[in-house]
Order: sequence, then C-alpha cells, then structure tokens
Amino acid sequence: MIEIKGLSKNYGSVKALQPLNLRLSVGKTHVCLGSSGCGKSTLLRLICGLIEPTEGEVIINGKKVSTSSQRKTALNIGYVIQEGGLFPHLTAKENIELAAKVNGWNKINIKKRRSYLMELMTMKESLLEKFPKQLSGGQRQRFSLMRALMLDPEIILMDEPLGALDPVVRSHLQIELKDIFEKLNKTVVMVTHDVWEGAFLGDTISLFDQGQLLQHGKFSDLMTSPANSFVSSFLKAQWPPKEVMEWL
Ligand code: ADP
Ligand code: MG
Repeated sequence: MIEIKGLSKNYGSVKALQPLNLRLSVGKTHVCLGSSGCGKSTLLRLICGLIEPTEGEVIINGKKVSTSSQRKTALNIGYVIQEGGLFPHLTAKENIELAAKVNGWNKINIKKRRSYLMELMTMKESLLEKFPKQLSGGQRQRFSLMRALMLDPEIILMDEPLGALDPVVRSHLQIELKDIFEKLNKTVVMVTHDVWEGAFLGDTISLFDQGQLLQHGKFSDLMTSPANSFVSSFLKAQWPPKEVMEWL
C-alpha cells in the first residue's frame, strides 16, 4: 500500500503538487493522467523519495519515505524515468545489471534474473551487447523496464514510458505491459497523458490539472460520473473527430 497524506510540492510560487491524499493498493496499476505540467512527474519523484515534499508524507509499507533514506527506498521501487533514461555509454546488458552489481549480487544470480527478464520481455540475447543508440525506441523501453525490474521491487513507477514511440509499437507495448503487470502482480504507478492508454492499463485513474487531483477512481467512474466539466472535457478531448467516428 502506498499512502499519500497531505502531500504537496511548491517550487517558489509554482504549486507543482497541491495537497494530495491518496491510497494506492498493492498489486494494481494506478494511472496518473493529466496535461503536461500538471505535476505527474513531481508525484513520482516524491513517491520514491528523490525530492522532499513541501508538506505531507508518503508512507510505503508503514514507513515514511524521505530523501535521506532514498537509497533504501530505491531497492523496493523500480523507476522508469521519462524517455527511459538508459545510460548511453553502457550496453543494454550493463544497463540492466548495474543495480544488481552495485548491490553485491553474485554473477549466477544476476544471470538468472537477467535471463528471466529477457524471456518475460521476449527479447533476443543478441541485443544485450548493443548500446542504447543502436536499439529501436521499443527495445529501449523494454530494457528500461527490465532495468527497473532487476531487483524485483514491489513497486514500479513509470513516467510516460511509451510517450516517444510510434503508434504501432506503442499499441504492442501497451498489450505487453498489461500482460506483464498482471503476471508479476506489482504495484504500478504509471504516468501518461494518453486517455486511452490510461483506460486500458489502469485499475484506477487519478486525473490531475495544475497540480490538483480532480478525480480518482475507475475509468468507468470518471466516464459516467465526472467530478466536473474539466474531467469530462479532458476525457473526450482525445476522442476521434465526429466525422472519423462515423467511419469506425
Ligand atoms: P508533468 O510531469 O505533469 O508534466 P511536472 O511534475 O514535471 O509536470 O511539473 C509540474 C510543475 O512544476 C511545472 O509547472 C514545472 O515547470 C514545475 N517544476 C517541476 N520540477 C521543477 C523544478 N525542479 N524546479 C522548478 N519548477 C519545477
Ligand atoms: Mg512529466
């Protein structure tokens, strides 16, 4: 369980996140939805203790997250940052094994875990020696997720993981991610600004605007009982134009 209590973050006069209360249950995929600049990445950084809140707290398994215990928190949280964030000077293999090496895993366990993840992501072994710039966008995202999964954390945070991909690769990866999340039973907090991606992957949706949570619930709740007109217009903004709908 991730408990978020009165959590806020200001940058000078910018209210990146306004006081937020939320309980995110274990083993589910929670999607944070909202336009650019509404505070989604800030929330993820607060959850994993990369930044200090202005007020309030995040509690994971009964323990308060803080920047001073970030290294310990990081063992239990896999974080896929926006654009994937693979180290360009390391091969795919070195990228995914780094955290395990730093934490003193032995070679046999590293190899076992890597092979398991390669199979899970249906990746060819030959890709392991490639550098990020030699991989396609979809392959890079798969390796970013594998890197986040390496230490087998309970929680996975993903910041717009599919944002930079072309539509066909993106839709394949959406299906793969849904399957993987269900199989692994992780608690996932995923950020996107794509309504349909959120609807497809999210057990719950939290819709933000200007640092404020407008509504939290199942996608069907937001559709059938939107909290206000912004929620309904945000959800409808990504529907195809009426003329296109007629062709469907
Ligand atoms: P999102 O991920 O939803 O696009 P962010 O969480 O990145 O939004 O940003 C929310 C707001 O906080 C934006 O107005 C952004 O400019 C501001 N912000 C984020 N990080 C910083 C920072 N380190 N310093 C100053 N302002 C920031
Ligand atoms: Mg962001």
